[in-house]
Amino acid sequence: MTLAPYACDPALSRGRRYTEPAAPTRSDFQRDRDRIVHSTAFRRLVYKTQVFLNHEGDLFRTRLTHSLEVAQLGRSIARTLQLNEDLVEAIALAHDLGHTPFGHAGQDALNACLKAGHPESAGFEHNLQSLRVVDALEERYPAYNGLNLSFETREGILKHCSRRNALRIESREPGGVARRFVEQPADGPKWQQPSLEAQLANLADEIAYNAHDIDDGVRSGLLTLEQLEDVELFSQYCRETRLAHPGLQGRRLLFETIRRMLSAQVYNVMDATWAAVHKAAPASADEVRQHPALVCFTPEMARQSALLKRFLLQNLYRHPKVVETTQAAKQVVRELFEAYMADPAQMPQAHIDRFDGVDVPHAAGAKPERVVADYIAGMTDRFAAKEHERLKGRAAFAA
Ligand code: MG
Repeated sequence: MTLAPYACDPALSRGRRYTEPAAPTRSDFQRDRDRIVHSTAFRRLVYKTQVFLNHEGDLFRTRLTHSLEVAQLGRSIARTLQLNEDLVEAIALAHDLGHTPFGHAGQDALNACLKAGHPESAGFEHNLQSLRVVDALEERYPAYNGLNLSFETREGILKHCSRRNALRIESREPGGVARRFVEQPADGPKWQQPSLEAQLANLADEIAYNAHDIDDGVRSGLLTLEQLEDVELFSQYCRETRLAHPGLQGRRLLFETIRRMLSAQVYNVMDATWAAVHKAAPASADEVRQHPALVCFTPEMARQSALLKRFLLQNLYRHPKVVETTQAAKQVVRELFEAYMADPAQMPQAHIDRFDGVDVPHAAGAKPERVVADYIAGMTDRFAAKEHERLKGRAAFAA
């Protein structure tokens, strides 16, 4: 793989928190990817969902298939731009490890539980939790907690972070992955940017969910093709598909439209990013971090993508049927939290053993409410629903 000078070179990595000898046959980023794939949190992604809950159907995306789609899109683009494919893949496969069961509903409920009565609490942020999973919660190695990933992979995982939580990380890891959220540059964008590979994994995430949520939305019957034809980005490729394949309809029309839409976005990112990178001409990955975001759509594609996002928000994520399950999911998470706080012995002993007085992002030991939040966040949708039924004696979701 020929790397551009502005790509992340594993030989120049800022390294791991605990120094380890290099692997004989794999680069540090390939090794990170392998550690992520073998982690417990990664296997749980198969039973975690974002929009549709796991029990609602077998064909909807789960966080695992979503992460694989993000990795595929990211790698394709990285290859063309001569970025580090392995690093993009590692970040893509790890980016959702910290998500709670039941998607954003679970996260919002956990955040509210942690902050109730404790306004100073770090609360619950899924990006920060993904970092916590790979830094502290995975228990696989004899010498340390977590997966001991490279700086560049961890930097990509911490996509967003509140300034207050960034300061907590910064105090434990000065100049580390949270550094860029601590100081806001005087002019220019809000925060300093991460590597191009991290920027790419982030944009690939958006491209992936915008496309697959259309597919899942139609599959579920909550969205119709007619509705989607009001969305510029979709209608343009739907029209193109109909011209190329007169008479095509139903699922094949939908899939072909999404395929064309995805390709157009991928080529658009390649072209727009190529132009931005060549204009800025960063000589190294470190110089990339001094520029505003360079991985981008053209302004026209960014506008169309934003319209599609708004459409999905209004018509899918806020669909009454989705909102109904969201409310039930929030209640499950809230009641689980209350039940474990009231009687920690309902959790496996290994979690109770982690109780101590600290609450810092890198430490596996934590205050009881953080340990309870970690335990709940790690659950799959179906395990959380089963636990809730065991503790409350009633099913939260209609079968
Ligand atoms: Mg994602």
